[in-house]
Amino acid sequence: MLSDEAIKEFQEIYEKEYGKKLTWEEASDASWRLHEFYKILFDVAKKEHFRKLKLKDNPKGFHMEGGKYSCCICGTYVEGESSWYDKNGIKCLLCQKAVDQKIVPSKACKDKDSWYAMWELDHYFKIRTATAKKMIREGKLNARIVPTAESSPYYYVFMIKENIELFGPKKREHKVTKNEDESITIQL
Ligand SMILES: [Zn+2]
Repeated sequence: MLSDEAIKEFQEIYEKEYGKKLTWEEASDASWRLHEFYKILFDVAKKEHFRKLKLKDNPKGFHMEGGKYSCCICGTYVEGESSWYDKNGIKCLLCQKAVDQKIVPSKACKDKDSWYAMWELDHYFKIRTATAKKMIREGKLNARIVPTAESSPYYYVFMIKENIELFGPKKREHKVTKNEDESITIQL
């Protein structure tokens, strides 16, 4: 629990900012939730900070520990030995290999707005998967294809720059605005 002093302080700040006096219960509840919220933010930032430090000793990267994470390319949940973290972020092993081999540009990891996924082609352009595959074969659509271990297609990345005539610049409403928790960085 927070100290009475902290709750009282919150009550005063709130009244000053919003002109409303919170009851002790409200202030206690709200300040607690705020406290928890910042604790989570801080934990996330702290983890990210330590990962960056660890990366200095392991510049090629390492497996993630302590939880599930989503691959920055395909979105699959990965943990432990199925995950890899390097300067381009957290990836599954298939996407990691594809980025290492430059099949997928590292830019795709950092900038989700530089490419479309297969589902987005359907969602935004009404290009169904079968049609997209046909277009790839006919050379009308440029795809970066992450292969499985058996070399069959696992995940398609469509770089906007390589398909600019088809897609045009990425529209604002197509942009990724969600802030994935991995992207928060603070100076400690
Ligand atoms: Zn992946």
